[in-house]
Amino acid sequence: MLGEGLDVVLLEARDRVGGRVHSVALRNGMMIDCGAQWIFAGQHRIRTLADQLGIQRLPIADQGKPQVWAGDQAISLDPLDKEELHRVIRRLDAMAARVDLEAPWATPRAAAWEAKSFGAWIETRVSRPAVATFFRIPFEGHHCVPVQGVPLLHALFYARSNGGFKVMLGLDAKVAPTEYFEGGAQQLPLGLAKRLGCRIRLQSAVTRIVQNPHGVTVEGETFRLSGDRVIVAVPPPILRSLVFEPSLPDSRADLLQRMPMGSGYKVHTLYDKPFWRHAGWSGQALADFGLTNDSSPVDGSQGLLVTLLQASYSSRLSQLPANARQDEILRKLGQLFGPQALQPIEYAEFYWANERYSGGDVARLEQGAWVDFGPSLRQPSGRIHWAGTETATEYYSHMEGAIQSGQRAAAEVAKELL
Ligand SMILES: Cc1cc2nc3c(=O)[nH]c(=O)nc-3n(C[C@H](O)[C@H](O)[C@H](O)COP(=O)(O)OP(=O)(O)OC[C@H]3O[C@@H](n4cnc5c(N)ncnc54)[C@H](O)[C@@H]3O)c2cc1C
Repeated sequence: MLGEGLDVVLLEARDRVGGRVHSVALRNGMMIDCGAQWIFAGQHRIRTLADQLGIQRLPIADQGKPQVWAGDQAISLDPLDKEELHRVIRRLDAMAARVDLEAPWATPRAAAWEAKSFGAWIETRVSRPAVATFFRIPFEGHHCVPVQGVPLLHALFYARSNGGFKVMLGLDAKVAPTEYFEGGAQQLPLGLAKRLGCRIRLQSAVTRIVQNPHGVTVEGETFRLSGDRVIVAVPPPILRSLVFEPSLPDSRADLLQRMPMGSGYKVHTLYDKPFWRHAGWSGQALADFGLTNDSSPVDGSQGLLVTLLQASYSSRLSQLPANARQDEILRKLGQLFGPQALQPIEYAEFYWANERYSGGDVARLEQGAWVDFGPSLRQPSGRIHWAGTETATEYYSHMEGAIQSGQRAAAEVAKELL
């Protein structure tokens, strides 16, 4: 809102900006993304922002064949599988097209769709095991929870918000390729922070928000600031630890109870070459334990595999000592790509469930949340406006969604104050 007649202060709990967008350097200086990395088809806001900040985008490596594994077996889709896959996608996309992104609770059959899980729908509508695997693994990755824990309504909302099932499964040849930022995605928040300069206060965790008829006061251990309006863009479970005076409306508080976050390890393994390409593999694999992608430098001078582990598997692995966990993960990669995968030059893992100011990767709306409490998701609570990717209608759970939600909340405040 700077330059539009409003002044702003940004309070950030951590000692860095970016939240779930965080890039670090490997020993060789290569930047990797511990959190958000890729940008997908249709995400125009983030592309525009990157262009404005002069941050270069690159397409992901796309050579060789992907792999799909069910348990210990590599599988491939035969013509009957493909026929069923496309039929089910058409059906799901037709259902998703009926979900009102602004008001999913108003969708015809919303209550019935919310009472059923996406996993249960797949079980009854998909007869071929390979096709069920093809749905289950990526969607468990997206929602960070077994598909039995995702209500059908939320899965349909999520898919429509992210371009539809066909696009999300990478089966729409017409859409632009997935891209990433050379040098790491955190360049975006760092570039924005430069513009805000001293208006950003790091290590300023907000603990209490007090509203009165004249304004709103935001407090932390070492500060107390007053203003006309506040935009809160904190992950839902973290929000529950803040004190609000007066209390949030019951429907907003109840909604927060039903927005848990899931989390899976994100693992980077660096090799001296993308050796899997010699065997004809693309480095992309869907397996019960997680998803892998080739994130090697464009010139192929080194090989970098990025693995996103399934949430339930991750929570089991989190109980192991670090070296035992690393051995277990490398063993899984060895199964997909052969013995060379067991010997990375460098191994780096991140687990957002342990992050005090994130609480996980992404929040979902559990059963009953959309239908009973959905209208309170973006409804301002007095002088408090809500942002964050979990309030987005487009590209929910992605960086693009975070930007969309921020623009919407900023427009709400501007409408009140200008
Ligand atoms: C492993 C992983 C992989 C991902 N991959 C992708 C991807 O490839 N592409 C993609 O688009 N998205 C991806 N995402 C999702 C993406 O990171 C998020 O959608 C996006 O960053 C959310 O932005 P946000 O601003 O809503 O929330 P956040 O990034 O969580 O920002 C919230 C901010 O609030 C701060 N905060 C919390 N509590 C307080 C407090 N009390 N006081 C002050 N500040 C506070 C936090 O420190 C944080 O900076 C991924 C996420 C993870 C974890």
